[in-house]
Amino acid sequence: MSISSSIYNNAQAEINDLAFVPAVKVIDGKEVIGFHALVGGGLSAKPYLAQELDIFIRPEEVLKVAIGVTTIFRDYGYREKRHHARLKFLVADWGPEKFKEKLLELIGDMPSKGENKIVGWKAAYFDGVHKQKQEGLNYIGLNVPVGRTNTDEFEQLADIADKYGDGLIRTTVSQNIILAGIPDDKVDEVLKQPVLQRLSPFPKHFMSRTVSCTGNEFCNLAVVETKERARRVAEYLDEHVELDEKIRIHMVGCPNACGQKHIADIGLQGALVKTPEGMVDAFDIAVGGTLGPNAKFNTPLKGRVKGDDLPEVLAKLILFYKEGRKTANRSTITSSGSAYRRSRRSSRKFWPRPDRAKRGGEPEIPLLFFWFQVRNWPDRASKLGDFQIRPPGILRSTVRNRNGGQSLQS
Ligand code: SF4
Repeated sequence: MSISSSIYNNAQAEINDLAFVPAVKVIDGKEVIGFHALVGGGLSAKPYLAQELDIFIRPEEVLKVAIGVTTIFRDYGYREKRHHARLKFLVADWGPEKFKEKLLELIGDMPSKGENKIVGWKAAYFDGVHKQKQEGLNYIGLNVPVGRTNTDEFEQLADIADKYGDGLIRTTVSQNIILAGIPDDKVDEVLKQPVLQRLSPFPKHFMSRTVSCTGNEFCNLAVVETKERARRVAEYLDEHVELDEKIRIHMVGCPNACGQKHIADIGLQGALVKTPEGMVDAFDIAVGGTLGPNAKFNTPLKGRVKGDDLPEVLAKLILFYKEGRKTANRSTITSSGSAYRRSRRSSRKFWPRPDRAKRGGEPEIPLLFFWFQVRNWPDRASKLGDFQIRPPGILRSTVRNRNGGQSLQS
């Protein structure tokens, strides 16, 4: 469950079972600040985006709604199969209207929804030094490379928070840290602290946007190693690729997707492939995930890449995208353009709409353009490296075999 008042959706509302997002509604001539509720989001092997209920919730009613939603799940949620015991399946079957009806039966009448105040998605990244609303105070967003830190660094951060800030260390869903309440005249002193040399507020591009799950170092469901590999991939990309927009890369060690690979610009899911030398680590690649007003899970590319080849393949993929996005920009801002019409005919589902592109000044999901090219022009896909084509069922059977025949499709 998430509760957020951020207009940039920093709690990733759409992938929660239950999410409260900021909203306003005019009631009896007065604008009331409150929340909308989204239900039924979740990732893993069968991902769903949460759906908005047609109700407006005053802050003091949040608990009542949360109790109502969990009561519905308790009483009507599926219990026959463990992997099916998720609110997302119930919401997908019922739809938001029936879910709302049942909720109102339990908690009483509620006003219909007002205006959702979310205007975009910043993926919960805060790196850098930023002014707070409070006069003279600042917050500093620190990058924790692939989400890994240690007690020594945490003690140093705690000392900084006590001495210069509000005494709190805040964590973000992007695996990073925020120090807040730092006075203007103390910012430079904080930036010179030794711990901020590694946990930097000004990280390199790819290191700043790479998320990884635990992987087989600590997780017995993992198929492959992830944390160290994700760090090496980010370092390689920072050395070899220059790009003027931030690309988010998420790596996970199995289909359970704790590292939220579905919402990444580039999602990487660990698997195994058979080679003449035996089974080796490999990754499935998916591109174009985003949340916010145009939320969409990323789309898998064909093929599977060996783990050792991953840095080089991703560098080629991103450079290929860097060239391709120029065409994407031209086509998507021209609503009557022939390239747009052609693409709509052949791939209605995956092309960014021109009106969306106009609103934001650039395509909202530019990596989809890249996917479109690769998917439809196999000769171009071959330029991306040595993709090893495997039938889709291979990953699941491999995972089951490594875990005593248990299904992990939860
Ligand atoms: S995604 Fe899979 S491997 Fe990674 S932490 Fe979750 S269960 Fe473990």
